[in-house]
Amino acid sequence: PTLEHEKLRRKIENGVTEIWYYVKSQLQKTKKKSDNSAVKESIDEILQDGTIQQRSILTDLLELSEEGETDKWRQREADELSEIVQNRLHYLQASQNPSDCESAKKLVCNINKGCGYGCQLHHVVYCFIIAYGTGRTLILDSTGWRYNPQGWEAVFKPVSDTCTERGFKSPTPWGGDENRLKDVQVVSLPIVDSLHPRPAYMPLAIPEDLAPRLIRLHGNPFVWWVGQFMKYLLRPQASLAEDMAETKDKLGFESPIVGVHVRRTDKVGTEAAFHSIDEYMVHVEEYYARLARRQTVHRKRVYLATDEPNLLAEAKQKYPSYVFISDTGISQTAGLNSRYSSSSLRGVILDIHFLSLTDHLVCTFSSQVCRVAYEIMQHLHPDASSHFNSLDDIYYYGGQNAHNLRAIYEHSPKSMQEIGFEPGDVIGMAGNHWNGFSMGSNRQNSKSGLFPSYKVEEIYNIVKFPTYSEADK
Ligand code: GDP
Repeated sequence: PTLEHEKLRRKIENGVTEIWYYVKSQLQKTKKKSDNSAVKESIDEILQDGTIQQRSILTDLLELSEEGETDKWRQREADELSEIVQNRLHYLQASQNPSDCESAKKLVCNINKGCGYGCQLHHVVYCFIIAYGTGRTLILDSTGWRYNPQGWEAVFKPVSDTCTERGFKSPTPWGGDENRLKDVQVVSLPIVDSLHPRPAYMPLAIPEDLAPRLIRLHGNPFVWWVGQFMKYLLRPQASLAEDMAETKDKLGFESPIVGVHVRRTDKVGTEAAFHSIDEYMVHVEEYYARLARRQTVHRKRVYLATDEPNLLAEAKQKYPSYVFISDTGISQTAGLNSRYSSSSLRGVILDIHFLSLTDHLVCTFSSQVCRVAYEIMQHLHPDASSHFNSLDDIYYYGGQNAHNLRAIYEHSPKSMQEIGFEPGDVIGMAGNHWNGFSMGSNRQNSKSGLFPSYKVEEIYNIVKFPTYSEADK
């Protein structure tokens, strides 16, 4: 398929999704306002029938995307692109021989950002992107890691086989203009929030040399890009790989399976709202109803990951027609659930691993745990960009540059809450309300407000990176 074909197909998919969010939410509002029971009943009927109709269109679109040889092409293209990027990362991380390490240009990244595992992984990926952008070997410092005092290599392969020492000289902190660090051998990075200056290739940038292929292949090229860094970083040590495989068997983890991540405890009320299990299960039910259009579904499996110890029992009791699979039980019976010990590391690694292996994710993208799972998922499928429902945020990368959209239709505000725009206007994206409207600000006049989600398109942030032609051989 041509680039234009793929863009148009995704636009239609998005349009069908958004129009039904819109109609559904408007009908629900009308139902609430009405005290006529006949009206309420007929609204319920429309909602039901509409959902079934939308399901048919989305199933047809899915089939269209797999038509003919398209699926084979997509797999081949994903494999090729991944090979290109993985070769470059290996090249960057491998000095030709160990002695080169002494003179190699390095970027030191300390994993010990004061936050959770998902947040720390994102910190390391941000470092790695800068390493790639500056042509420096990433040196990962994980001494005294809160998740495992033995460091990164206790669970994952070292980020380089030949060059893991920063050397004796103390590193020069990132800063000043670009030329200042050009000849400096060892540079260290702060956390993303205090990075100055910020290079253009920071998230959500994608590399110019691969951009046309990525945009054709993938519905969210930047997530694909991050997924490649995750793929390299999270190569498990043999013992972890064995644990993953054994646990998979023990749990009876099998496709079809939907991943549900429910983030509660310290996050609720501070960085995210409480969501009941029912809100997640609505999307799980819809996933299986769509799947049933294409195949017989014998077992509706759900992989449930959560930091809320009582949730598994509640879910099982409320949804008896589902098979809930969860690793929570295992870690707990082994007495291994204190939050920042190495056992909690096992718990979160396995939960993210299994979430990423599911066919569809339902979670809150405000949680870094789920965003990491979604990112990893991208290197396990040619394009899993639409394999999720988030109950809150759209996908984002902490510390990212502005996320911009372009208006494709004009819009005149219908209420005080809405903003207007003309085709071509640039809109800063703040979030999707999953009711047909998104929140954003018109860069032309700085006004913030709601607008119909279907009236905009993504502006890809395409930036020149080094192209590593030496690694392409
Ligand atoms: P966020 O706070 O959800 O954005 O993600 P972080 O990864 O930064 O911090 C949350 C931490 O809580 C994780 O790293 C885990 O240690 C723990 N946690 C949250 N959700 C889960 C889960 O589903 N399973 C496990 N095992 N741990 C979790």
